[in-house]
Amino acid sequence: MSLVLVLNSGSSSIKFQLVDPDQHATDEPFASGLVEQIGETEGTITLKHAGEKHTIKAPIPDHATGLDLSFKLMGEHGCGPLDVDLVAVGHRLVHGGILFSKPEIITDEILEMVRDLIPLAPLHNPANIQGVEVARELLPDIPHIGVFDTGFFHAMPPAAALYAINAEVAAENGVRRYGFHGTSHEYVSHKVHELMESDHINQITLHLGNGASCAAIKAGQPIDTSMGMTPLAGLVMGTRSGDIDPGIVFHLHRTAGMSIDEIDSLLNKQSGVKGISGVNDFRELRAKIDDGDQDAWLAYNVYIHQLRRYIGSYMITLGNVDAITFTAGVGENATFVRADALAGLEMYGIKIDEERNNQPNTGPRLISTDDSRIKVWVVPTNEELAIARYAKKLAS
Ligand code: ADP
Repeated sequence: MSLVLVLNSGSSSIKFQLVDPDQHATDEPFASGLVEQIGETEGTITLKHAGEKHTIKAPIPDHATGLDLSFKLMGEHGCGPLDVDLVAVGHRLVHGGILFSKPEIITDEILEMVRDLIPLAPLHNPANIQGVEVARELLPDIPHIGVFDTGFFHAMPPAAALYAINAEVAAENGVRRYGFHGTSHEYVSHKVHELMESDHINQITLHLGNGASCAAIKAGQPIDTSMGMTPLAGLVMGTRSGDIDPGIVFHLHRTAGMSIDEIDSLLNKQSGVKGISGVNDFRELRAKIDDGDQDAWLAYNVYIHQLRRYIGSYMITLGNVDAITFTAGVGENATFVRADALAGLEMYGIKIDEERNNQPNTGPRLISTDDSRIKVWVVPTNEELAIARYAKKLAS
């Protein structure tokens, strides 16, 4: 079995999966794991393989040690990257700017271009690059492929991609809407093409995880998306604010005396559903609502209000909508979110079937009624599988 190692390297963590690119979307990967607390005195590595879970704790000062120890742990349990038929390493790269529209085989030159994009993603790209460098050192004879989160949105029409700010300043500083979660939006929208046996459909894809974004997609081409120059924009998220009045930033700086770094952390880590309710996980949020917690109820309503605003606006942007697709942790599991996001829209041709909506998350499924003009789908996303498929294709 040919396998692809998929790496998602963050500032203090590395997620890894060994994936068979030909597997079904809902199959477990051959192996998966997580390196956590890189840079702290003690880090943790977990590995899942063949129905078993293995954990080690050790000092993990840097990404190189993290990946090296992970490979050793994998080797001890029969899934070492050097012991399997590894055909490629696929790297999730967050920001491809306007340079990258599609996955690329990573060469020194490509890596240099990704490095040039660091100012646009100062938190993400350096960690991604570190992951690539370390993996290329450990696996020098395997092709490494970079898949960009922004790639799918590369050709969005200028009306959607440009912000109405001074054109010179914007161009000089790369200020425009790039969009993120592209691999997921592309993956689930293609799945819906298969399910509806047509790629000439208009659809709204709703990726609702801890991070959340939506996209308006016309015949496979995205024409708008909610995330912007950074993944902070758009929908209300677990801990991110989504769209706010930009004047709030000046106000918090000038009047409340907060530094730019403090505001950055406030909007990215202490806002969203968590900022209002104290929790960001929708299972906990739901439990709090059921217990009568008013803040949780308020947070939920702010979340749903913003989500419905985007759905409404994309219906107008697309003109005619054939499908609405929910995906990611919240979108795939939170039946109440799906029901509330689309409640009362029968006059627009949207009717949710309660029983279908309440089915467990076992795979792609229709949740609208048979007479709903707009089909509503739940499609489990699998970004790792999508990356593995790209990587295998480019490597062969
Ligand atoms: P990430 O953006 O971190 O990739 P995911 O797509 O994995 O996030 O989504 C994680 C979120 O999904 C959790 O924080 C939680 O809010 C939500 N979630 C996961 N399972 C359930 C569930 N069974 N019911 C409701 N919400 C869920």
